[in-house]
Amino acid sequence: TNKSITGIARLLQEAKASQSIARAMADGSLDAEVVIVGGGIAGLATAVALQRAGVAPGGRGILVLERHPELRATGTAMTVFPNGWFALRALGVAHKLTSRYDVIEKSRVTNLETGTTQVFRFAGNKVSDEVRMRAVDRKALLDALADELPPGMVRFSSKLVSIDAIPATSGSSEATVLRLEDGAVIRAKVSTASNLIHTHIYYVLRTGMHD
Ligand SMILES: Cc1cc2nc3c(=O)[nH]c(=O)nc-3n(C[C@H](O)[C@H](O)[C@H](O)COP(=O)(O)OP(=O)(O)OC[C@H]3O[C@@H](n4cnc5c(N)ncnc54)[C@H](O)[C@@H]3O)c2cc1C
Repeated sequence: TNKSITGIARLLQEAKASQSIARAMADGSLDAEVVIVGGGIAGLATAVALQRAGVAPGGRGILVLERHPELRATGTAMTVFPNGWFALRALGVAHKLTSRYDVIEKSRVTNLETGTTQVFRFAGNKVSDEVRMRAVDRKALLDALADELPPGMVRFSSKLVSIDAIPATSGSSEATVLRLEDGAVIRAKVSTASNLIHTHIYYVLRTGMHD
C-alpha cells in the first residue's frame, strides 16, 4: 500500500541520514550551534549580532568560516552611509570608527569633457553626527567587527565546499553537515537554528524586514 511504501521510504531516509552523521562524526567533525560562511562585512556583522543577541551565549558555538588565511579587504576606502552607521551602532562598533574618520560634508564631481564641476553637499543628521556619511578603511571596518568576537570564532583557511542537510530521525535531531576544502567536517545543530527561525533576528536576516 501507499502507506507502507511511505513508511519504508522514511526508514531508508532515516538510515541514510544516520549513516551520513555517523560518517561525519567518525571523521572527527566539529560541532557548532551556528555556522556563518564568509568572514566579510556581512559574516562578521552577523556573528557580532548573534553574539550580542545571546545566541550561543558567550559566543560559544558560533563559527565563522573564512576561506582566506586572514581577514581580507579588497579595495581601499568604503563609504558608509547613515543606514550603515545605524547598523554599526546597534552592533556596538560605530564609535571605534567615527573617532578615526571625518564626516564627508560634500563631494565634487568634475566632468572631464566639459570641465564643469558640480558640488554635492550631504546634509547633517538631526539625530547624531555619528550616523553621518564617512569613508572608512575597509580593513579597519573588518577589524572593528572581528575584535568583538572571541579568539577562534573565525576559522581561517576554511573554504566551504559542500553543505548537506541531514533530516531529523527518531534517534537524532535535524543537522547540517558542512565540508571544508581541508577535509574538515562541521556539524551544525539545526535544532538551535530552528529555534532561531522563530526569532526576530532570523526574520530580519532572512527577509531584511524589521517588523
Ligand atoms: C569596488 C567596490 C567598491 C565598493 N564600495 C562600497 C562603498 O563605498 N560603500 C558600500 O557600502 N559598499 C561598497 N561596495 C559593496 C561592498 O563592498 C559589499 O556590499 C560588501 O563587501 C559585501 O559584504 P559581504 O560580507 O557580503 O561579502 P564580501 O565582503 O565579499 O565577503 C565574503 C567573504 O566570504 C569569503 N568566502 C567566499 N566564499 C567562501 C567559501 N566557500 N568558504 C569560506 N569563505 C568564503 C570571502 O573570502 C570573503 O571574505 C563596494 C564594492 C566594490 C566591488
